[in-house]
Amino acid sequence: MFNKFIASILPYFPKKFIWIFSRAYISGVTMADAMRVSKELNAQGIRVTLDVLGEFIKSLDEAEANKQEYLDLIEETQKNGINGNYSLKPTSFGLLIDKEVCYRLMREIVAKAASYNNFCRIDMEDSPCTDLEIELYRRLHAEFPKNVGLVIQAYLKRTYGDLEKMLDMNTPEIPTNYRLCKGIYVEPAGIAYKKYEEINQHYLEDLEFMFRNKIYVGIATHDKPLIEGAYELIRKYNVSKNMYEFQMLYGVTPKLRQSIVAGGHVMRVYVPFGEKWFGYSTRRLKENPKIASHIMKAIFVKG
Ligand SMILES: Cc1cc2nc3c(=O)[nH]c(=O)nc-3n(C[C@H](O)[C@H](O)[C@H](O)COP(=O)(O)OP(=O)(O)OC[C@H]3O[C@@H](n4cnc5c(N)ncnc54)[C@H](O)[C@@H]3O)c2cc1C
Repeated sequence: MFNKFIASILPYFPKKFIWIFSRAYISGVTMADAMRVSKELNAQGIRVTLDVLGEFIKSLDEAEANKQEYLDLIEETQKNGINGNYSLKPTSFGLLIDKEVCYRLMREIVAKAASYNNFCRIDMEDSPCTDLEIELYRRLHAEFPKNVGLVIQAYLKRTYGDLEKMLDMNTPEIPTNYRLCKGIYVEPAGIAYKKYEEINQHYLEDLEFMFRNKIYVGIATHDKPLIEGAYELIRKYNVSKNMYEFQMLYGVTPKLRQSIVAGGHVMRVYVPFGEKWFGYSTRRLKENPKIASHIMKAIFVKG
């Protein structure tokens, strides 16, 4: 309750103050920071997915600039020999302004990644974007079936049906590639499960669907019961190591992450960087169960 209150007033705190807590979730503001953190993670046997922070833009000039930043990022990642791929938020390329422009810009990025035999993940945003992002995925997948994947949100009631509908893209030669997460946006109860148990139950049902249908999956969670549930399903379906990976966010539950790596599973960490860290990091802070005590401590120490 108190955490929720603190979370709701976060946007009214000075940005400098929020930065103190946000730093843990962001590799830095520059590309060099992202390269440094990626190398550190790679040295621990962990792959990365790189994200240039920025979403819900106001003009297509911003979309063009964001595209250029990703093209530069791909060159830089390649030059540095990083074991990593890319995560893209369609709204930062103008999805809600002009979906054709968005498609064209994202196509350029995916084509560039594909030229290095690499991969782009389309992040899933809030529910006004779901249909548009599935459509975008279908179009890009038709041209680059090995180089593009989508995020699936277990909290949406429509998700299982979406997975069934998208089976037509899955083939034994080139399996479709999803990242399964719970979902982070605040959605109406009419379209989204709200209770922890309900979301977890659907998460495992979606995961089982993917294993049963031999879809590649990035199991994106820090929730121990879900990780245990995933281990059970991996055993049940005898899923080979090249058909799944675990994924976590930078700065979250590093000990749990290490235990998964020690168990011999592939792990990938989402590494965000950039000037526009505010929206991403306040979402992370709201999820952190210890946020209230951290913030109160900081206020106390400052005062
Ligand atoms: C790689 C990756 C990519 C993602 N991409 C998307 C996306 O495209 N679209 C989308 O809607 N969502 C995305 N998410 C977010 C996801 O939907 C969840 O909101 C987020 O992962 C928290 O859910 P959880 O499964 O960890 O379970 P929760 O029940 O939220 O958390 C389980 C436990 O993990 C720990 N924990 C979780 N978050 C934090 C935190 N911020 N700080 C400290 N401890 C924490 C706590 O111990 C908590 O009890 C992504 C998540 C990951 C890991």
